[in-house]
Amino acid sequence: MGDDDSPSSSPPTSPQTKSRSTSPVKVPRSYVWNHFARTDSGPVCNYCKKKYSKNTSTTPMKSHLKVKHPSLVPELIQPTLHDVLSNPYTGKQKEELDDAMLDWIVEGFQSFSMVNKASFREFMHQVNPR
Ligand SMILES: [Zn+2]
Repeated sequence: MGDDDSPSSSPPTSPQTKSRSTSPVKVPRSYVWNHFARTDSGPVCNYCKKKYSKNTSTTPMKSHLKVKHPSLVPELIQPTLHDVLSNPYTGKQKEELDDAMLDWIVEGFQSFSMVNKASFREFMHQVNPR
């Protein structure tokens, strides 16, 4: 219902398939938009209706999804990570672990391929030796 309020955004076609000159306006194509609805006042979480201001970056939204709805966002967490995160650590310990892990994930999320790197494996081994 209501108007489609995305006047200057490109149509939802893949930019790569068109050979137009590079547009100066980047339409956010982040996965977060699978989980947030755009409203006039800004993005709203599909699950808990948390609102963000219109000009917020997607970073806090990503964090929100990871923290609040990790199980709803399977693409965020690779099986190994999920496996580790659901290990039966004691409360406090797990919290700290999750925190550290989250930082790692958030920081490294831009270059997702890093999870395959040796340093990450080593890290995982430290937090989850087996
Ligand atoms: Zn939410």
